[in-house]
Amino acid sequence: MAETVRVRFAPSPTGHLHIGGARTALFNYLFARQNGGSFILRIEDTDRTRSTEEYIDSILEGMRWLRLDWDEGPYRQTDRFDLYRRYAQRLVEEKKAYYCTCSPEELERRRQEALAAGRPVRYDRRCRNSQTAFTGPSGAIRFMMPEEGQVGVPDLIRGEIVFDNAQLDDLIILRSDGTPTYNFTVVVDDVDMRITHVIRGDDHLNNTPKQIHIYRAFGYTVPAFAHVPMILGADKTRLSKRHGATSVIAYRDMGYLPEALVNYLARLGWSHGDQEIFSLDELVRYFSFAHIGKSAAVFNPEKLLWLNGQHMMKSSPGKLAELVIPFLKKMSLIDDGEELDRSWLARAVSTLQERAKTLTELAQSLSFYIADRIEYNVKAKEKFLNERTFGYLIDVRDTLAKVEPFAAAEIEKAFHAISEKHQVKLGAIAQPVRVAVTGKTESPGIFEVLEILGRAKAIERLGRAIEDIQARS
Ligand code: GLU
Repeated sequence: MAETVRVRFAPSPTGHLHIGGARTALFNYLFARQNGGSFILRIEDTDRTRSTEEYIDSILEGMRWLRLDWDEGPYRQTDRFDLYRRYAQRLVEEKKAYYCTCSPEELERRRQEALAAGRPVRYDRRCRNSQTAFTGPSGAIRFMMPEEGQVGVPDLIRGEIVFDNAQLDDLIILRSDGTPTYNFTVVVDDVDMRITHVIRGDDHLNNTPKQIHIYRAFGYTVPAFAHVPMILGADKTRLSKRHGATSVIAYRDMGYLPEALVNYLARLGWSHGDQEIFSLDELVRYFSFAHIGKSAAVFNPEKLLWLNGQHMMKSSPGKLAELVIPFLKKMSLIDDGEELDRSWLARAVSTLQERAKTLTELAQSLSFYIADRIEYNVKAKEKFLNERTFGYLIDVRDTLAKVEPFAAAEIEKAFHAISEKHQVKLGAIAQPVRVAVTGKTESPGIFEVLEILGRAKAIERLGRAIEDIQARS
């Protein structure tokens, strides 16, 4: 039987879940789902000065919002110190690691000497070679790196990358205060969690040869690696806050759909022919390391916005109606406890969703349906609400009071009758009505708008426009 795929996303909670981290999580998720494997979430919080509970919560919130549901965890490295100590001890017993009693001052002095002499700045392996080695336990524990030969990193994106062992340091795996170090905890956890594939950013590539020696020291089959190229801003520097919003939650708050962000993240560095729009199911089906580019990807906010618009168009009005409510509240278009009739809201949404690129835009464009009192665009008012249109508006108001049923098709018939009566084109009637009921010269089809607004609101708004003209003349 083939081994079961087990992958992990291992964020350090030193910030919010950002675009790059979310993409790493997504690739792990897709690979796990594609192979019927397990996706494990591991919080690498050993750096206690920079890790916070708030960031952990925020990372989980981002993952949940993107619907990257994990199968195991979240495990926290700070809960696992005993495990790391046991594993370090085991390496000492097997003579694959040793106690180092060199003091920090001593090490610093030798480092300076090496620098001055132009020698490589590495631990000089004094304790490894001294007679007293292995006699511990005191001091830090260092891993014994091979001094010669090479190590190949098998990478699913770049092929094999070879490193010289001579470049590798006898790194500390457990400090003298008993706390484990980064490269060691990663490997111990991967071994303990039986990880088969390590998918992470290529900023970790230089750690991989060291880690491979540690996996081997444990007699563990070295996992397969996929080092995913970085994400850059438009100016080709590493993506950061300078390039605008980089946290996943910020995109949620700006009105993006999780499926659009997932789609965009997948396309950042990965492709499947010319296809741009993917559902999560399609991503699970098509994902492959062979189609991840070897060079860095450039983050393009306009493209993300476009994709969001595409996913907005494809969403059901009912779903968008549900999602837009918090945005309507944020804009104070509805009160906190207020309930809008969802099926009514869904109909209003269906007239606008083609053009709204985000939920924020959708909420803005919905405002004329919902607001108690609309604002007129100044130019539109001057041009369309005046003595010339006064008579049309009165006729429309009076006719709408009688149209039965109050539905787009019947309303349209009534408009035709009014335009014939006045011997003008339909538009000459429709446009002033549009300004009177929406405040603007552009809106979805006016008959549908009137139907959705409802008789009472439509008549009330026409009445106000009529009064407005009277007051000015
Ligand atoms: N904790 C590391 C990070 O956040 C990831 C380590 C790994 O994936 O091996 O960059």
